[in-house]
Amino acid sequence: MLATLLVGGETIALRGDLGAGKTCFARGLATGLGCDERQVSSPTFIVLQRYRGARIDLVHVDAYRLSNPEQLRDSGLELGALDCVAAIEWSERVESELPADTITVSLLATSPTERAITINASAEFAQRLAASMSPRPCAICKTPVEFLCASKPFCGKRCRDVDLGRWIDGRYQISRPIEQTDLDED
Ligand SMILES: [Zn+2]
Repeated sequence: MLATLLVGGETIALRGDLGAGKTCFARGLATGLGCDERQVSSPTFIVLQRYRGARIDLVHVDAYRLSNPEQLRDSGLELGALDCVAAIEWSERVESELPADTITVSLLATSPTERAITINASAEFAQRLAASMSPRPCAICKTPVEFLCASKPFCGKRCRDVDLGRWIDGRYQISRPIEQTDLDED
């Protein structure tokens, strides 16, 4: 969801303890940008890795092994002057290199399977983010559906079943006949 709002050039600082899910978040970001998320691993690369995205590339930086912030610049990466999105793990170590408009994503483990995610961004970006997370009407009954609802875009199982039923009944139709190329993967 965050990735859909990015246009390229943004720096995303990922914060959180070991195991908080920084790499997992970077993987989701890669998926959202249309990169192959299987490429995203941590930390098998030394400092940075670039993934080609369908829309925007992602540079994944692991600042853990950097002993000083200048080493980031020495690696050839000029944050704030990129055409791609930069996601930085252990960004605390390169604090002085982070652009003023850096989007900070802080991950906190609240239980073994749950995370609290805090995103700090400019007022303009925060507004767009909030708008994209606002409840949307259920595709069937139009009841508002919360952003984190597991059955989205439906309000629940009942409406999901109604939707499935309409497909089976043939009440939904596609606008043209299916061709073989529609069935081929890529
Ligand atoms: Zn509904």
